[in-house]
Amino acid sequence: MKLSEERLKKYRNLRRDFKEDRYINLNPIQRGGVLTAEAREALAEFGDGYSTCDWCPAKTPRLDKVTRPPIADFVEDLAEFLGMDVARVVTRCREAQFIAFRMLGRPGDVVVIDSLAHYSTYVAAELAMMKIKEVPNSGYPEFRVDLDAYAAKIEEVKRETGKLPAVVVLTHVDYLYGNLNDARRVAEIAHEYEVPFLLNAAYTAGVMPIDGRELGADIITGSGHKSWAASASTGVLALTKEMAKRVLAPSQIVGDLTGRKFSIKEYALLGCTVMGGPLISMMASFPHVVERVERWPEEVENARWLVEQLERIEGTRQLGVRPKDHTLIHMESEGLYEVSRHHKRRGFFLYEELRDRGIVGIQPGLTKHFKLNTYGLSRERIEKVAEAFLEIAEKYGLSISK
Ligand SMILES: *Cc1c(COP(=O)(O)O)cnc(C)c1O
Repeated sequence: MKLSEERLKKYRNLRRDFKEDRYINLNPIQRGGVLTAEAREALAEFGDGYSTCDWCPAKTPRLDKVTRPPIADFVEDLAEFLGMDVARVVTRCREAQFIAFRMLGRPGDVVVIDSLAHYSTYVAAELAMMKIKEVPNSGYPEFRVDLDAYAAKIEEVKRETGKLPAVVVLTHVDYLYGNLNDARRVAEIAHEYEVPFLLNAAYTAGVMPIDGRELGADIITGSGHKSWAASASTGVLALTKEMAKRVLAPSQIVGDLTGRKFSIKEYALLGCTVMGGPLISMMASFPHVVERVERWPEEVENARWLVEQLERIEGTRQLGVRPKDHTLIHMESEGLYEVSRHHKRRGFFLYEELRDRGIVGIQPGLTKHFKLNTYGLSRERIEKVAEAFLEIAEKYGLSISK
């Protein structure tokens, strides 16, 4: 079927409607994924189809064995950087979670997760045909996950199913409140029961220092497009040696007619995963990422400073654990909400006022609760953000404390 020019036109000139440097983008999911100049260049260079596969070794034909470009080195360096033994680049953090669940459990098994886990943790378990058991959090206003309750939840699973859970998952920093959890504590509990511990580091690995060995993680999952200055789709699956044996098991299938075998392929990865531009973008940004995690204390300082400024606005406060230990911030503002109730643009006024001041990324329509992320922004730009908010609040008659 030949498609009409009318239908193809919309693909002819695909462009983003804003450029990173013209606007300040506060969208929580965008900050850690902004490409380095090196990644941007490499992306264009490796944009062609199977561009990373020219020198795939004939004897061990697998993506992570390719030495030119240095993919084999990269997966080793990636594992070392995270304090793990083995690493693979997969399509997304959610895929890394799915692969771990699928390989460590059987249909009907239970995964114990924190109640602030990302939806992708739930659906990854669902696709692996497993059930979930949630660990509660303290609710408003801190939403602190009750880490000690992991033990009771593991016991509950044992009582209800006669089996231990297949995996215990902790979201290192959750996407809702940006709370940083003590992974060590959950690792200890999981290991008391000899259950593998998966740390979902989508919002931490690649932006802050992570040492899986020190944290007691058996598996770390991460997101390249969220936190590694890489293009979508890229994810990280990092494992201890013991876990790698189970999760990266070789294919054993045999063609019934031909006797064909593919024992070099890791079957949970379907052989090879992310090739071409996205993988190379992650590799090109890696030196920058290795360096930037060392600047994490300044990043947290910046986030705390902005919270302090925003809380000067009448009826406005930060939700989640205080003070911030991460750059993802969830604000609650009765003040801005009150303004929206009388504004002709309703909740959209805040988005529009910010946009007029060169700031985007606050979800259009939200005023009472909104999220933002200061990661990677210079202090100067964060000051501009604070100024904009205070100016808008003042314009609509909200009081600003000293
Ligand atoms: C964003 C996010 C994900 C999803 O990451 P993908 O790489 O897009 O799959 C998973 N978990 C958490 C906690 C996240 O914040």
